[in-house]
Amino acid sequence: MDSARITVDLGALAHNHAALREAAAGAEVAPVVKADGYGLGAAQVARRLWDEGARSFYVARLSEGEALRTVLPDAAIYVFDGYLDGARLEAARLVPVLNSLQQVDAWRAERPALPAALHIDTGMNRLGVRVEEAEALKSLPVELVISHLACAPEPEHPLNALQAERFAHVTSLFPNARASLANSGGIFLGERFRFDQVRPGISLYGGGPCERPDARIRPVAIFEAPILQVRNVPSGESIGYGAAFVADKPLQVATVGAGYADGVLRASHPRGHAFVAGEKRRLLGRVSMDLIAVDVTDLPVRAGDPVELLGPNILLDEAAAAAGTTAYELLTRLSSRAERVYRA
Ligand SMILES: *Cc1c(COP(=O)(O)O)cnc(C)c1O
Repeated sequence: MDSARITVDLGALAHNHAALREAAAGAEVAPVVKADGYGLGAAQVARRLWDEGARSFYVARLSEGEALRTVLPDAAIYVFDGYLDGARLEAARLVPVLNSLQQVDAWRAERPALPAALHIDTGMNRLGVRVEEAEALKSLPVELVISHLACAPEPEHPLNALQAERFAHVTSLFPNARASLANSGGIFLGERFRFDQVRPGISLYGGGPCERPDARIRPVAIFEAPILQVRNVPSGESIGYGAAFVADKPLQVATVGAGYADGVLRASHPRGHAFVAGEKRRLLGRVSMDLIAVDVTDLPVRAGDPVELLGPNILLDEAAAAAGTTAYELLTRLSSRAERVYRA
């Protein structure tokens, strides 16, 4: 290969969708495709999920919803940011997820016929009307009520049960609305978290529901870059900016054509790894804008050989943890400089 490439495995996406559907046990699976499908391409991802049977989708921004409407003319598209511009929502047939009393009032005053959902805050204190406020909105004609879990990747966290309990109470105030609570992690927390619809994002894209690799979820993003050259570094010499790594013995080192401008997080130094010639090897020295160094001592490699930075051997959650972050941030920071390839 001669330049960095991100392959999006749509077959693996379909597999993960099926795995989530099974775990959701009858609840509708409504994919979250915000932030350009977690960095993997909202249009391609959403089209495939539609083909797999998904009919409802979530985005964060109005503009993301408008773009998705051109891709999926018949899908139900929900906008987490809610009711900000009624004319644009109506023109693109988007469903606002009303998330404050102010939004509820604006929607009722301006466009009461526009279908809407209601976000209830059950403990995250981010978006949504509070439970007490929801009491006063009893029987508001929304088609769906949602809430969001703060601690879903930690099954034992007491806030999960408390949020499920509060949400179950709130749903009783809106008997004609469907209900949706679980994100990826929530789907695996058990039956009382499922309600009518679940909203997975990260586990569709290869992240484990508990922010660590999970055998039920397959890698979707495969990030590879070419070896540009192989060099011998004598013991005692340093590699890269700041001379942050010093060879403690003679090393064979591959200089690889991907850096932080392609999405290799700078914080991958010093704990990150790459997979090359069948082995998992450490990154050496600081990540540059365009380059990284990989220890290829005793490996039969040469310029042009591919190095895996993310994929079946360098798992998303592990690479994220090595850089002190989450799969969410790692995926959404993959840049557009690396070529994108979609594999059916
Ligand atoms: C992003 C988001 C999701 C998806 O969460 P994952 O953890 O990626 O599955 C679901 N609901 C809301 C409100 C969100 O903001």
